[in-house]
Amino acid sequence: TPPEQIRNFCIIAHIDHGKSTLADRMLQITGVVEERAMRAQYLDRMDIERERGITIKAQNVRLPWVLDGQEHVLHLIDTPGHVDFTYEVSRALEACEGAILLVDAAQGIEAQTLANLYLALEKDLHIIPVLNKIDLPSADPDKYAAELAHIIGCEPTDVLRVSAKTGAGVRELLDEAVRQVPAPVGEADAPARAMIFDSVYDTYRGVVTYIRVVDGRISPREKIRMMSTNATHELLEVGIISPEPKATKGLGVGEVGYLITGVKDVRQSKVGDTVTWERRGATEPLAGYREPKPMVYSGLYPVDGSDYPVLREALDKLQLNDAALTYEPETSVALGFGFRCGFLGLLHLEITRDRLEREFGLDLISTAPNVVYEVTLDDGTELVVTNPSDWPGGSKIGDVREPVSKVTVLAPSEFIGVIMELCQGKRGVLLGMDYLSEDRVELRYNLPLAEIIFDFFDSLKSRTRGYASLDYEEAGQQSADLVKVDILLQGEPVDAFSAIVHKDAAYAYGNRMATRLRELIPRQHFEVPIQAAIGARIIARETIRAIRKDVLAKCYGGDISRKRKLLEKQKEGKKRMKTVGRVEVPQEAFVAALSTD
Ligand code: GDP
Ligand code: MG
Repeated sequence: TPPEQIRNFCIIAHIDHGKSTLADRMLQITGVVEERAMRAQYLDRMDIERERGITIKAQNVRLPWVLDGQEHVLHLIDTPGHVDFTYEVSRALEACEGAILLVDAAQGIEAQTLANLYLALEKDLHIIPVLNKIDLPSADPDKYAAELAHIIGCEPTDVLRVSAKTGAGVRELLDEAVRQVPAPVGEADAPARAMIFDSVYDTYRGVVTYIRVVDGRISPREKIRMMSTNATHELLEVGIISPEPKATKGLGVGEVGYLITGVKDVRQSKVGDTVTWERRGATEPLAGYREPKPMVYSGLYPVDGSDYPVLREALDKLQLNDAALTYEPETSVALGFGFRCGFLGLLHLEITRDRLEREFGLDLISTAPNVVYEVTLDDGTELVVTNPSDWPGGSKIGDVREPVSKVTVLAPSEFIGVIMELCQGKRGVLLGMDYLSEDRVELRYNLPLAEIIFDFFDSLKSRTRGYASLDYEEAGQQSADLVKVDILLQGEPVDAFSAIVHKDAAYAYGNRMATRLRELIPRQHFEVPIQAAIGARIIARETIRAIRKDVLAKCYGGDISRKRKLLEKQKEGKKRMKTVGRVEVPQEAFVAALSTD
């Protein structure tokens, strides 16, 4: 297809504003999916996406559309909507010239819409503002058209109005996409350069890599090279998605499609990388490639220790499809054998855990998540700490830096007070505040990432009765007064409970964990102190009082089989006991202590 007839665009929207439904309608109206085969959210393929109603992985599809007698090819690129996947969103945007900014006509703009809009504007994409769900009785399109126009600097009449549910206005939207989105430009005769904007593992075909051709042409039976690693691959197939994969003779300037090389692991075909020919290839990769970098770490342990090999296998499998997931074996006194895992963010952690439990039948416990700390020791040594157990002891620490985020909160203005209170309590620094309309406000904060991953979202939602939306992006590192709090049982540290917290929050954390453990750990034949400590300094203490009870005494002289039963029951219980020092603790107690809020 000649570039003049191609239009590449994506839909950016807050979760639930109707992106998937609109994509479905487009598939249907362009005739790509037959009426009969149509099922809701055709493009959201993963079960977990359907259940949570969120889009995790980008998908793309090619749609034919005729305007004024001229045939066109529209490539709809479906971006993941969540903040954890900002990098993937930004690469998907890079593959487009235009973006449909889709806003629920009953809700208005939300934080994620704004964050993705800013990203799209940074990439110079043409924005088509669209209000969705105009069929809803509660829709207020005039109000939100004004809001949208105000934010992107257009006229309220430029804002299109559709119902993805009924299909109203969707044909007009496709017409406008052809009129307004610029055609791609590139050098047809130059060595090929194509950008990878998604990469998915398929059990039958190996890795399927989604690309947007920028220059030249990618044809099958050619060898290609990944420019970040210089690795070369045989090209087994090149094709388009419409909506099922179809092999083609090649992809030219501006075209979007997929390629298959037979590699088995998405880390060999990384989002953001540039594909070129092996011979006479391009010398300059496309700008902006970045290695995925875990931002949040947590320990994952099987509740049943014998599931450990299953967990290992499951992680191996998931990693084939998730270049951002990292893990290494770890052992814990309290939890046994498990893995230290790195994630892009909290949602990534939750999704991964959910998939492990659901798809592999595992029952897992995760330790409190932590961020990545940079520590400079007094002697100048630099450390990167991703696990509280690697925190340097003693007084050798010179400076500690932690990641900070720029947080955007959108909410009705009546909640300004409670939001400010929450952010201040989380060490937030107000950067600015703007009214989007009379009664809706945008607050911008600098907040340590560590505070955000610790129930910030839930607190925000409950304090604003669900009306606030949140988005955040990386904003570098800053120095902070952080300490490691250990929890000791009879003087022995229980590793899974160590946490790195701000000095001012150390006492509260120590106290909370000590109290919780006192309630959960059964009494022993001797007194057991539970302490919270920073280094050698004890900051909180609880005591489990001793009991004197011989279980068998009860059966004195009684019937033998009952006695045996009791002994067997005790033995069974022992299997799941963890020993810390002299204290025997049922693993459930640790699990419960980690999972309560
Ligand atoms: P996404 O998270 O942006 O992909 O949103 P979905 O497409 O999953 O839609 C979220 C919810 O809104 C679903 O329950 C849809 O059925 C509903 N929805 C989407 N578009 C419309 C619309 O135009 N009108 C109405 N009434 N509901 C819609
Ligand atoms: Mg969706």
